[in-house]
Amino acid sequence: MRRVIAIANQKGGVGKTTTAVNLAASLAATKRRVLLVDLDPQGNATMGSGIDKATLERGSCEVLLGELELGAALIKVDPGGYTLLPANQDLTAAEVRLLTMITGRETKLRHALAPLRESFDVILVDCPPALNMLTVNSLVAADSVLIPLQCEYYALEGLTALLGTIEQIREAVNPQLEIEGILRTMFDPRNNLANEVSAQLIMYFGDKVFRTIIPRNIRLAEAPSFGRPVLFHDKESRGALAYLALAGEMIRREEDEGPGIPATEAGAQDGTPPAESAANAGEQAVSNGSEEAALHSRAAADSSADSSAAADEVPSSAPRENQA
Ligand code: ADP
Ligand code: MG
Repeated sequence: MRRVIAIANQKGGVGKTTTAVNLAASLAATKRRVLLVDLDPQGNATMGSGIDKATLERGSCEVLLGELELGAALIKVDPGGYTLLPANQDLTAAEVRLLTMITGRETKLRHALAPLRESFDVILVDCPPALNMLTVNSLVAADSVLIPLQCEYYALEGLTALLGTIEQIREAVNPQLEIEGILRTMFDPRNNLANEVSAQLIMYFGDKVFRTIIPRNIRLAEAPSFGRPVLFHDKESRGALAYLALAGEMIRREEDEGPGIPATEAGAQDGTPPAESAANAGEQAVSNGSEEAALHSRAAADSSADSSAAADEVPSSAPRENQA
């Protein structure tokens, strides 16, 4: 089963890009062939993958407008193990061009991805912080939406607007669109409000809330400045383990439901052994149902643990070409 997952929330700073980059690396570490599409003109997922957005000659702008085939704009991310469709501020111009089109403007991304959909096990789309034409394109192209959410006072209000948009897109063009899950990000278990909002989320959305919680973790925040996923910045950090656990939870859930996200030969050749064993640990944590409690206690110890942790331990992997 092949999935396109839009990572969306119209609120900025809730952890969309952090989730996109680190979930891409974590799924790649479990031998899935992953494509990460940067659909935000800020190009944060591009920079966070170690690609300089200022020197980009082609990316999601040209692909979205149909000026360039998807395959011609892809970059192999190393370290990372996934493939990137990069973006920069040119994407703003693309959005304006889309808005002036009379027909087909919502389906541009879906059509652009179609030729290579079968070449990847998972396609993640990092959306901009707005319910604009770029986000609509990503929801139309997607099988499901992953919603990162910070457990704070206005979080649920924003969620209602997003769910409304998802419903409209279901009715109009993409009836199959599902909620992949709601992901609690930057979680601080010492914060009473966070715990209250979290409890409300579970009350309203039940199983749709991922059991994995992403704690607030300094390593996650600093990894982009090194242009790497956290797995290649500090693989032992709470943040790295949390995103591996999320990948494990998603894979396990698919396996329970049906044919799952398969590991492939192509992905296997690309493997990074240390990351993979950590990913298995993530899956293990999910299987025994203890990851939430574990992350709660780890997150509590986070501030002290992080400041003393080894700075830059990189999983060993054979050097690969940067440009696909
Ligand atoms: P968005 O893409 O939704 O705007 P980002 O992923 O860019 O959000 O996150 C916003 C900021 O918060 C960034 O500086 C990022 O490094 C930081 N951040 C995200 N997730 C975490 C986390 N779990 N712990 C600490 N900092 C985080
Ligand atoms: Mg972002």
